[in-house]
Amino acid sequence: MDLHGPALDAARAFADRWLASLPTRPVGVPADPAALRARLGDLPDDGVGAVEVLEHLTAAIEPGLVASGGPRYFGFVTGGSLPVALAADWLVSAADQDAAVAVMSPGAAVVEEVAGRWALELLGLPADAAVGFATGAQTANIACLAAARHALLAAAGWDVEADGLAGAPAVTVLLGAGAHATVVQALRLLGFGARRAVRVAADAQGRMLPAALASALAAVPGPVLVCAQAGHVNTGACDPLDEIATVLSGHRAAWLHVDGAFGLWAAASPSRRHLVAGAERADSWAVDGHKWLNLPYDSALAVVRDATALTTALSVSSPYLPLGELDPSTRTLENSRRARGVPVYAALRALGRRGVADLVDRCCDLARRAADRFAAGGAEVLNDVVLNQVLVRVRGVDVADLARAVAADGTCWVGTTVWDDAPALRFSVSNWSTTPEDIDRSVDRILALRDELAG
Ligand SMILES: *Cc1c(COP(=O)(O)O)cnc(C)c1O
Repeated sequence: MDLHGPALDAARAFADRWLASLPTRPVGVPADPAALRARLGDLPDDGVGAVEVLEHLTAAIEPGLVASGGPRYFGFVTGGSLPVALAADWLVSAADQDAAVAVMSPGAAVVEEVAGRWALELLGLPADAAVGFATGAQTANIACLAAARHALLAAAGWDVEADGLAGAPAVTVLLGAGAHATVVQALRLLGFGARRAVRVAADAQGRMLPAALASALAAVPGPVLVCAQAGHVNTGACDPLDEIATVLSGHRAAWLHVDGAFGLWAAASPSRRHLVAGAERADSWAVDGHKWLNLPYDSALAVVRDATALTTALSVSSPYLPLGELDPSTRTLENSRRARGVPVYAALRALGRRGVADLVDRCCDLARRAADRFAAGGAEVLNDVVLNQVLVRVRGVDVADLARAVAADGTCWVGTTVWDDAPALRFSVSNWSTTPEDIDRSVDRILALRDELAG
């Protein structure tokens, strides 16, 4: 008897319907959590068949699903799933390997080793850096900063893994004014404290100012952790990493971390690489797979130059669990986990060097196209459109009202933010399937809704 086929067929039927609908369905959906809850029902006393469960589940939640993987979702920095990456993700679940230790799945461990090496090559990072496959840039930032904490304190003669932070030498954290909230979260969780971190001034695009870093650094006697960024969530701007690394090169005990959740992928494009020049001089890097590389959730890489710093900070061992270099869990926060490096391998193999560069360039070009069309339509583009982000302000209309009208209309979806103390629309292009027509149609619709609201 085929125990899996009917259930997998039901999942496949939903996937086919959903994926085919992405280019045409209304992009956002009105939130009605109470109705969704009611549709999901109560815990049954007796179970029901797999196919019935899947059919019920997909019908129940579909009204609550957003077409965020589709071509006209410009909210946040989202990306969709490349067909090959989605299929590889299904393989991961089907094979159900535990990617914690190599002995549980040499296949998963080696795929991750190879995928990690390829990613380093594309990103222009040191070939012998350690790569951990994290759930997102949030946990990749935590993993990297745990390595930083280990290394900075070990150099000051302190064993933080054994003795904790009470009584430890102080580590000064210098953080760009435009740093992402997840870096602050990582600092909180690692005991550095959010409020103790010193904010370094940024320019009008949100890039850390090297001169401000130099003067902040001059006041720091001891170990220092500097958190820089490639890809500001509002402007897409990248900190001047080469200059930052040069400023730090004069300091004895400094660790430079780069949160490059989406922006670090600029390194894979010969025409945008200059934006992240000097990135390779840092000590650690966090980069997402599930945003711009268009992999399914959850996927990110934590990369650390000093492999021992990462593995000392993160690996656990026990007599039943002897760990070695090939064991992926020595480089991640998780122990047992899915083989999330497999879709990374599949996507990189399917795209090749040129395909990744083309994905990056296409999104940047489409962002430029959107910016030009917004400007031609009388909207104000607030940022230098260097990457895939466009910040827009319209006159005479409340930004939140406009974003709501765009969501209700369903042609596309855009986010909002605050820039220069005033609300703005945030338009991110990060999906592999977005076309120039999608951009034109979406911008025109947003501008038409602006005109309707302005009456
Ligand atoms: C999205 C983002 C993060 C957080 O990434 P997750 O994948 O959501 O955990 C961190 N930093 C930057 C700059 C981001 O854009």
